[in-house]
This record gives sequence, structure tokens and C-alpha cells, in this order.
Amino acid sequence: MKDQVIIITGAAMGLGFAAAEELAKKGANLVLVDYNDESLDKAAEDLKKNYSGIKIVTVKADVSNEEQVKNYVDTAVKEFGRIDGLYNNAGIEGKQASITEYDLDIFKKVIDINLMGVYYGLRYVIPVMQKQKYGRIVNVASVGGIRGVLNQMPYVASKHAVSGMTKNAAVEYGKDGILTNAIAPGAILTPMVAEAFKQVNPENPKAAEEQYAKHNPTRALGDPKDVGKLVAFLISKDNGYVSGQTIAIDGGESNMY
Ligand code: NAD
Repeated sequence: MKDQVIIITGAAMGLGFAAAEELAKKGANLVLVDYNDESLDKAAEDLKKNYSGIKIVTVKADVSNEEQVKNYVDTAVKEFGRIDGLYNNAGIEGKQASITEYDLDIFKKVIDINLMGVYYGLRYVIPVMQKQKYGRIVNVASVGGIRGVLNQMPYVASKHAVSGMTKNAAVEYGKDGILTNAIAPGAILTPMVAEAFKQVNPENPKAAEEQYAKHNPTRALGDPKDVGKLVAFLISKDNGYVSGQTIAIDGGESNMY
């Protein structure tokens, strides 16, 4: 992926960082975006240390802030003159609570980041890709974007919306050489999922993790590196015709009855 330019949001840790590593390994130039600037700088330092010959730019931005999204897109164009791929990954889980007891401020925050953040990314990156007549976009949904998940209604609503926006972007911009897909990870062991297990069993999060893994056909949680590899394919020129799909990466769990 030499000379390709890929923007990754939520790049400081978890699935964003794992994809950054995979893409750096393949020689892509990266624009790393996150609102946690300390972790973002550390992530960029680690990548620079391990992968030479690529250019890495960091931009501090909250994806739920339209102006800050516009700024990360403008920065990418200023630095590189083009954008080949957008990994629209930043997202939060919110707190776990039943529908009738859900805190409304947290509900709105989940929608602002997971839905509007992905939308703003599409809104400002697509015109750049249209001019190039080329682009690859990977939005991050979740198995919560194809199934209901107990006590996570705002998250599930936002991730179904990501899947819907993915279909629309594929339908509207395929003519411009832009392929848009979403991924739907199951439980992948990142800091976000570790936090969810703490909420389920504050005394013994490891037990919650093991209990959860038991229900997976593979009896294991996912590895962020595997997600990075799927993203690296979908966001590259090797993907010539897959578009509008929400691809589960969950060890087969979402097929179980
Ligand atoms: P994580 O919490 O480990 O990392 C998320 C990163 O995004 C962090 O660096 C955080 O600072 C950043 N971020 C969060 N909100 C942001 C915002 N408003 N603006 C900019 N940066 C922001 O989470 P993760 O597990 O890596 O999750 C990444 C994405 O994958 C999310 O959209 C999440 O919903 C989705 N997902 C994860 C799993 C999983 O099992 N880990 C499963 C399904 C979906």
C-alpha cells in the first residue's frame, strides 16, 4: 500500500491502533485521529519506531464535532494531497442499562459519536474521493449493528445506523469509484471490551470474560490483529467489488440461535 493515504479515527488504541499497525506494515501513509492526544502521540511514536519509510500525521479531534472532522480531512489533504481510505472507527459503548432506565445524556453522547461522527467523516471525505474517482471507506458497526444486545439500546441503535449509512454511501458513490463497507466485530479484546466486562462483574472481570467466551463457537474472544487484517483488505485496491456490506467478524457467533 505504498503511497496510499489512509485516515484512521480512534487510532490511539484498540481496533484503530491494530489497523494502523497492519497498514503501516503494508507501507501506507497514515493520518491518525483521536481525542485522547496523549495516547495518540504514544501510538504514533510506537509506529514510527517500528515502521520506517512511511509518513504519519496525527490530528487531535473529537469525531462528534463537525469542525474538528473538517479539520482532520483538510489536514490530510494539505499533507498528502489525497485520501485513499477512511477507517471510520472511533466509537463508544455508553453505559449498560435497560431501555426505560437509560441516562438520556449518555444516550445522546453515544449517538453523537457513533452515528454523527461516522456521518461527518463521510460528509467531508467523500468529496475528496469523488475528485480522485477513487476511495475505500470502512465504517465500524458491531454485532450490535445486526442484532439486539441486552442493556445497550443506544449503542445498538447507533450501530444499525452505521450499517444503514454504509449501504447508502455504497449506493450513492459507487459511480465515483468509492467502495464503502462496514465491519461488525463481536467481542474483540480491546480496552473498550475490557471496560464492558468490568461493568458486568466489577469484582471479577476476568470471570465475565471467560463466561462470555464460552458462548462463542470458537470458545475465544477476538484478537484486534485479525480485525486489522480484514480492514486492511477492505480499505485497499485489492478490494475491487465488495461494497455496501456489513461484514461480521465474530467467530461465527451472530449465526447462532
Ligand atoms: P477502545 O475504547 O479500545 O478505543 C477507541 C478509541 O477511540 C480510543 O482511542 C478513544 O480515545 C477513541 N475515541 C472514542 N471516542 C472518540 C471521539 N469522539 N473522537 C475521537 N476519538 C474517539 O474501543 P475499540 O474496542 O477499539 O472500539 C473501536 C470501534 O469498534 C468502536 O466504534 C466500537 O464500537 C467498535 N466495536 C468494538 C468491538 C470490540 O469488541 N472491541 C466490537 C464491536 C464494535
